[in-house]
Amino acid sequence: MTGVGKFLAIWNRLAKSSCPRCSSCPVEDHLHVPRCSAPTAAAEWSKRHLAFRTWMQTQQTAPEIEAFLFDYLKTVRQPSLGVPTVRAWSRHPHLFRSAISSQATLGAQGLLEGLVSPNWRHLQALHFSYIGSKKSANLWASRLIQQLIRIGHYMWKDRNRLAHSEDSSWYTARKREIDIGIREQFAMGLMDIPPHSQYLFRDSRDTVLNKSLKDCQHWLRLVSRERAINRRSLARQRQMIFDLARPANPTSTRTTGASP
Ligand SMILES: [Zn+2]
Repeated sequence: MTGVGKFLAIWNRLAKSSCPRCSSCPVEDHLHVPRCSAPTAAAEWSKRHLAFRTWMQTQQTAPEIEAFLFDYLKTVRQPSLGVPTVRAWSRHPHLFRSAISSQATLGAQGLLEGLVSPNWRHLQALHFSYIGSKKSANLWASRLIQQLIRIGHYMWKDRNRLAHSEDSSWYTARKREIDIGIREQFAMGLMDIPPHSQYLFRDSRDTVLNKSLKDCQHWLRLVSRERAINRRSLARQRQMIFDLARPANPTSTRTTGASP
C-alpha cells in the first residue's frame, strides 16, 4: 500500500507522517488505517462491518460462517477479544473447527487483505447443498474476498476524505510545511535548475503557493528532484575537470634501473 503517511514522509522528507484523522498515531502505516481511533474511522468501520454481515445474509452464507467472520472481524479494532469462542452450531463441526484454526493462523488482518481459509468454501458448498441451492461456492468465496478487501478500501477512502479536506488541521499543518519548502526553492532561484526544467518557475511564488496541496506537493517534488539531479551532475563535472587538471603523482611514476 503506497501513499500512507510513512511512505509520503520518506518520499519528500517534508511531510508530516502522523495520521490525518487522529493525533494518537505519530507514524501512520497501513495497519493503522482500519484501526484509527478517530470518530469518523469508528463510524465508518461500524457501518462497513454491519454491511458485511448483511451481505453474508443475502448470499445465504452458512450461519456458523457468518457468526465467526462477523465476530472475528471485530478483533481488527479490538485485538483483546481474541479468536472468538464460537457458540454457533455446525453440521460439520470438524470442518468448522479446521476453518477457524486456519483462519486464526492467517489472522484478522488477513481478512482485510483477502486471506481467507479455503475451508470456508468447502463448508459453504456443503451448506448450499443442504439447503438445495444451486449457487456456486467458488463464486461465493470469490465475492467474500472482494467484500472483505472493500472494507479496507472504504477505511482508506475515509482517511483520504479527511486528509484532503481543507478544513482539517492535518491539511493545514501539511500545507504549511510544503509552503516552507516552496519558499526555500524560490529563494534559491534558478541556480542549479537545468534549462529544460526552468518552466517550473514561470509562475510567481504566490501563484504556486495558492495552488492546492496536491499541486504544491507535485511542484515541490519536481523542483527538488531536478535541483538535486543537476547538482550531482555538476559535482561530477567539477570532479572530472579537477582530475584532468591535477598534475600526475610523481610517486606513481615507474623508475627503471634501480635494482637493490
Ligand atoms: Zn488515526
